[in-house]
Amino acid sequence: MTSLRLWSRARGRYARESARLFFKRPLVISSQVPFISFSFDDFPRSALYTGGSILRSSGLAGTYYVSLGLMGKQTPTGTMFLREDLSVLLEEGHELGCHTFGHCNAWETKPDAFEDSVIENRRKLNDLMPGAAFKTLSYPISVPRPFTKRRVAKHFGCCRCGGQTFNVGTTDLNYMAAYFLEQSRGNFEEVQSLIEENRKAKGWLIFATHDISDDPTPYGCRPEFFQSVVRCALTSGASILPVVQVLEALRSPTP
Ligand SMILES: [Zn+2]
Repeated sequence: MTSLRLWSRARGRYARESARLFFKRPLVISSQVPFISFSFDDFPRSALYTGGSILRSSGLAGTYYVSLGLMGKQTPTGTMFLREDLSVLLEEGHELGCHTFGHCNAWETKPDAFEDSVIENRRKLNDLMPGAAFKTLSYPISVPRPFTKRRVAKHFGCCRCGGQTFNVGTTDLNYMAAYFLEQSRGNFEEVQSLIEENRKAKGWLIFATHDISDDPTPYGCRPEFFQSVVRCALTSGASILPVVQVLEALRSPTP
């Protein structure tokens, strides 16, 4: 291995460790039922019109983490949402979450600039959709800097990252784990066993991806694959809700 690769691996490990260790906001997951959420980042139109209709056909809703600065653009994750898609999304009962205005890399961006972009996204949302509000966030591209976790904590009920696992026991609201479906590279068995582990642990599994298309980008997945994951999630008996609704359920458990 070249010293450059060793250095970049060490740097990645350092980033993940420091993101995990500092400025925690603990949430103990204690529930009678497992939870599953489906989330989409950026977000491409196909996430709403293909992914969203798969969810809706089973009476479900998802969470769309939007960077409003990407509206109408073409990006590595596909053709981005348009202004009118935001109304459709909310009418269909999905959650609109924050992904910063400028799609800021959570590790590379200085904490104050990251927070400015969170505020800008909120301001833009107020212009486009008066009355709507972001209640949860997903960090773009990378793990957050510890001081970024601290900065954004006051704006959101919880903030989602990656990690390819589910949340169980004492978790960190500033650093919730998610499983990116595209990283399974179509390995359905891996997803299936994660859903099963989440069921046994009565945890909270948050799925994430980008586009849902017959010809997906490297950051998305195919409709049949997504449909199979949704079916498996339903079979597990999990309560399947947008991120903000799971948070509310966990904060006020039924006696
Ligand atoms: Zn993103």
